[in-house]
Amino acid sequence: AMANDIGDAHWLPFTAMRQFRSNPMMFLAAEGMHYTSADGRRILDGMAGLWCVNAGHGQPRIVEAIREAAGRLDFVSSFKMTHPATFELAGRLAGIAPEGFGRVFFTNSGSEAVDSALKIARGYHRARGDAGRTKFIGRAKGYHGMGFGGLSVGGIGRHKRDFGPLLPDVAHLSLPYDRASMGFSRGQPDAGAHYADELESLLQINDPATVAAVIVEPVIGSGGVYPPPKEYLERLRSICSRHGILLIFDEVITGFGRLGTAFAAQALRVTPDLITCAKGMTNGAVPMGGVLIRDFIFDAFMAGPPEAIELFHGYTYSGHPLACAAGLAALDVYEELRLFERTAVIATTWQEALHSLRDEPHIADIRNIGLLGVVELAARKGEPGARGASCAQSCYDNGVLVRASGDLIVLSPPLIIDEEQIAQIVDSIRSAVRQMN
Ligand code: PMP
Repeated sequence: AMANDIGDAHWLPFTAMRQFRSNPMMFLAAEGMHYTSADGRRILDGMAGLWCVNAGHGQPRIVEAIREAAGRLDFVSSFKMTHPATFELAGRLAGIAPEGFGRVFFTNSGSEAVDSALKIARGYHRARGDAGRTKFIGRAKGYHGMGFGGLSVGGIGRHKRDFGPLLPDVAHLSLPYDRASMGFSRGQPDAGAHYADELESLLQINDPATVAAVIVEPVIGSGGVYPPPKEYLERLRSICSRHGILLIFDEVITGFGRLGTAFAAQALRVTPDLITCAKGMTNGAVPMGGVLIRDFIFDAFMAGPPEAIELFHGYTYSGHPLACAAGLAALDVYEELRLFERTAVIATTWQEALHSLRDEPHIADIRNIGLLGVVELAARKGEPGARGASCAQSCYDNGVLVRASGDLIVLSPPLIIDEEQIAQIVDSIRSAVRQMN
């Protein structure tokens, strides 16, 4: 019999076992927009797996590329050796990145991409003889992975609570969101750019000459899908530039089309200095992440005498042949389907559908941008998270996979979603909240 009680299994899924003790959703296969569950149902995937399967599951071209690569060259290190696909993929990524991002550092995950970007930021300042710039500034509700670097700059309290001490000398900006005035905004809220001015205040407490980088998700994802207010990121950008501080966009979720362009930096028209990515990089099919690097940073690394600074950093699986093959095939598929352009168009339908839930019972807020969305339910008195869990369960019973995070229903469907499937997701939430007390 198939174990469906994690308490009796040998597998440790997450350390947060208490939230995951019994009855996990068990999946056997996936194709296109759907998973096949162990009980033989087709489940519409409203989360693109975990914000990553942007072109839908089981894309034949990606599957075939992985198969072919696995049979030809299983492994080669990136230390003093390499293989052609690393060069090819880096070139393709530079080609779709914002202008001037000519270099890519490969990792195996978003967490590693973030930790690498933080190290690259410090390394950049050191390479320029500016070793005093070591501090980082993140944001409340920011999520930057589970490494100690990412945890430290992250701003989700319960992720950090049991694992300290974290990196010292990290400050956090507050969440640029006020429910009363910005709730139910469609896309980017009109007001709220002033939240960026808080960075100037932080730089009065922390001498700007000691700050290496500011790291933000252009759209806060795991922390609850908060699109940035208009002009907010622009202001962060100009404050960072004024003080010689690097700006890192963590695009692990927003990268590869979710906002209708390859990267959020392009959709939102703000250019950071480093971009972290993962997830959609291989359409989720093989673990891979990376840091896209602006040329001036790379040039600073290479400028000094070789003995001046070593900047020794890299992973066994950086640029792994399977990941590179999957990455190249994913980019082919994205291009072939014109998936990013398509996303920009269908995002309007998505927005209208989500906001049609506004007058349903228990709805506290709805936020959206690109093909991201969140429906925030009002917490039941004394039972935080109960409505979120019940809504997600009811959707699942109706054949739709959504993600409950407390009382937030988080949505990030594959970008190949059509109008009917959008309606199916939204209607499953509608019927769930109507039945709920
Ligand atoms: N940064 C962001 C913005 C993310 O959303 C995530 C994953 N959800 C990560 C970093 C960490 O990525 P990974 O789980 O691949 O380590």
